[in-house]
Amino acid sequence: MKFEDLLHRCFRCGYCKLTDDYDDFNCPPHMKYRFESFSPGGRLWLTRAWLGGDVGTSERFEQILYSCTLCANCVKHCIFPFNEDLVNMFIAAREAVVEAGTLPPAVRDYFKALRVHGNPYKEPAEMRGDWARGLSVPTYDRHEYLLYIGCVGSYDERGRKIARAVARVLNQAGVSFGILGPAELCDGNEARAMGETWLFEELAKKNMALFQARGVKKIVALDPHAYNAFTKEYRKLGADWEVYHYTQILAEKIDVLRPLLKVYPTAVAYHDPCYLGRHNGIYEAPRQILAALPGITLAEMDANRGNALCCGGGGGNFFTDILGGGKDSSARIRIAQAREAGADVLAVCCPQCAKMLDDAGKAENPEKRLEIVDIAELIVRCLRKEETP
Ligand code: SF4
Ligand code: SF4
Repeated sequence: MKFEDLLHRCFRCGYCKLTDDYDDFNCPPHMKYRFESFSPGGRLWLTRAWLGGDVGTSERFEQILYSCTLCANCVKHCIFPFNEDLVNMFIAAREAVVEAGTLPPAVRDYFKALRVHGNPYKEPAEMRGDWARGLSVPTYDRHEYLLYIGCVGSYDERGRKIARAVARVLNQAGVSFGILGPAELCDGNEARAMGETWLFEELAKKNMALFQARGVKKIVALDPHAYNAFTKEYRKLGADWEVYHYTQILAEKIDVLRPLLKVYPTAVAYHDPCYLGRHNGIYEAPRQILAALPGITLAEMDANRGNALCCGGGGGNFFTDILGGGKDSSARIRIAQAREAGADVLAVCCPQCAKMLDDAGKAENPEKRLEIVDIAELIVRCLRKEETP
């Protein structure tokens, strides 16, 4: 297994499962199960025991490996120099499980759907562009940006609404962009996260060939998971495009949007998605947009930026639900944190976070005092009237 030589360096000191001030737990599987084996250090030692043959493969072992959301809280808070490889070690352990062929059924189903249908929803590829029906969104043809949507924005009902809002706001901001529609392919970020590196590389090579054939130079990603794959993993395979998350483009264009906005008085907490924040250091662009929306006040949660609590959907859990819900799930705790901060709206900028938090809100916030709204949807709410692009 890759990184096997690093596993023994963990001191089991436990800093990695906490926030900066050591006041709160912040590792989703540990918060939910409270066993050491579900914490970063415990998982490393368990993996070591598994590799050494001291423990065998079991349902529990697979649950411990796959309930990690790869949120990188441990990367940020482990005090030892090998911290930057913690997430890579968990992925390597999953690769070893994939190689051994002993996968949890939900993970096996995900890989099969991706291989057979090209997406985890088992929907036809021709439907990929359906989210844009009725909108003025052209097929990419040497526009400045390729707007890459990904599987959740293409097929999930909540994701599609967010994709539509992003396209509408990019239009209002005068951004030159096009989409691939039915020709778009999965970016593979979650396949890699779940240990199917070979499937990931196959998808990455196909995407790279497709983007090259279409002349793509700049990509704007709807989903931070795709942003992460394109900026980090595709680069290792030779990709050299400029990649942005849509909040970065809109933060730059905020002066173009400003005259189109009306006052929308509301208190907003912002949820940092792990793949935008801790994994890629983008904390300010979404906040710059929120600060520019008239009438909006930022009700920052205590756990923000590098201390943000994951929604629980990372590392493939959005699709497999191996971490699971319940009152100790990080999604429900996150809803409670936003309410504690006095927010009316919890703003997100990742379709996976939006859905995870929406679902958690049904149980944690039944009286609907807190709304989960994507930043692009918030901008749409603030538009006086849309101008025809
Ligand atoms: S991963 Fe790092 S912080 Fe966590 S227990 Fe091991 S050495 Fe300590
Ligand atoms: S990546 Fe996140 S969920 Fe996984 S062990 Fe580290 S803190 Fe816990």
